[in-house]
Formats: sequence, structure tokens, C-alpha cells
Amino acid sequence: MTATAIKTRPVNLILLGPPGAGKGTQARMLQDRFGLVQLSTGDLLRGAVAAGTQAGLAAKAVMARGELVSDAIVLAVLKDRLDQPDVGTGTILDGFPRTAVQAQALDDLLARRDQRIDAVISLAVDDAAMVARVSGRYTCGGCGEGYHDQFKQPKIAGRCDKCGSDKMTRRADDNAETVSTRLVAYHAQTAPLIDYYRARSVLTEVPAMGDIGEIAGALDAIVSKLATS
Ligand code: AMP
Repeated sequence: MTATAIKTRPVNLILLGPPGAGKGTQARMLQDRFGLVQLSTGDLLRGAVAAGTQAGLAAKAVMARGELVSDAIVLAVLKDRLDQPDVGTGTILDGFPRTAVQAQALDDLLARRDQRIDAVISLAVDDAAMVARVSGRYTCGGCGEGYHDQFKQPKIAGRCDKCGSDKMTRRADDNAETVSTRLVAYHAQTAPLIDYYRARSVLTEVPAMGDIGEIAGALDAIVSKLATS
């Protein structure tokens, strides 16, 4: 995957999928390629927890259990982020919306900015494989590159291929027990959004059990088409 950014009109894209589907990995690749801004509500909430804000204090225990943080808190952190100037080039929403209330609120937020959701990509994966995928993953603390104990190890153990940092981090909620709760939350509250967006003719389902590069190719084709339409 080349890091050359292609200039596009602003597009807003949603990546849907359970934990472990590859939303973060694919969002980062699209960010590099198209100059869109990855907005991960999980990252925003982890930032709030680390900063000890009121939202972070309220979210911390809920996230540790693998349940969904309240719509009010998530919408407040997202709205703050959308108000920052760098998102004008367009966004990739990763992990948001996760409930019908959030989907409706997102429509309203974008409409007020004279924008809309251009495409929703649902990453289709086998649930059974997700616990192993999520449980083994870790991230470079320097640049955010993702790795996995089994599926994607750095060339030199413990050292990031991309930036050379040796600070690797694991998320507290990436353990088998919490992942199971997160999968239940996904099916109960988020998967119904697939039909919501299908009914609006913005949904594309992409098989996402295969090679990361091939999946990225499929997503590139969708976004390139949007960008030039
Ligand atoms: P993620 O990084 O997307 O896997 O999210 C990690 C955790 O943050 C989730 O298990 C939830 O507890 C919380 N979270 C992230 N995004 C949302 C959201 N849109 N709605 C509710 N909770 C969220």
C-alpha cells in the first residue's frame, strides 16, 4: 500500500464490524491513502480515560467490562472532535455509530454541517475467529501500527517495523472474556445498523476474513469511486 495521498472531495465513511474485524487497520490505511481523518470513538474514549476527564471517569469501568458507553458521553466526545478544523477533508468513522440513537444523531450532526454519510462499509467476518484475533493484538505506542502474536509479528521482536519504537501496548479490554461481551453488544445493538444503512442504499458488505492487502484493495475501490463521483 502506497502512502501517497489522493486528493478527493470530502467524504464521510463508516466502517462497521465487530471487534477484531479490522476496522482500525483499514481506517488507518484509508487515512494514509485518501487524506481522510480516522475518527475512532474507542480511541477518543481511551484518551478521555487517560486524561481523567469527567467523560473518561464515567466511561472507564464500562469499557473494562466490554459494554457500550452511554450515547450521551460518546456523542459529546465525538462532537468535540468534529468541531476541530482538520476533519474538513472528510472522515472515516471507526467504531461509531454503534446504536440506532447514535446513527440518528450522526445524521443530524452532519446535516447541520451540510454533509452526509456517503458510504457505509460492513466488514463481514466469522465471529468464532474474533476472540483469537483480538486477544493476541498489540500496538506500537510510537506510531499506532498494529501487530498480532500469531498473525502479524514485527521483523525484530518487540521493535516496530514502521517507526522503530520498542514501546508496544496492549489494550486492557483485549482479553477473551471482555471480547465475548463486546461481541454480544455488537450483535444486539450495532448489527441492526446494517439494515438501517442498507435501506438508505449506502451500504457495501466486504468479506474481511482474508488478506489485509486484498481487503484494503476492495475498500480503496469503493472510496476512489466516491471521491470521483
Ligand atoms: P473500540 O476501540 O471501538 O473497540 O471501543 C472500545 C470500547 O469503547 C467499547 O467496547 C465501548 O466500551 C467503548 N466505545 C467505543 N465506541 C463506542 C460507541 N460508539 N458507543 C458506545 N461505546 C463505545
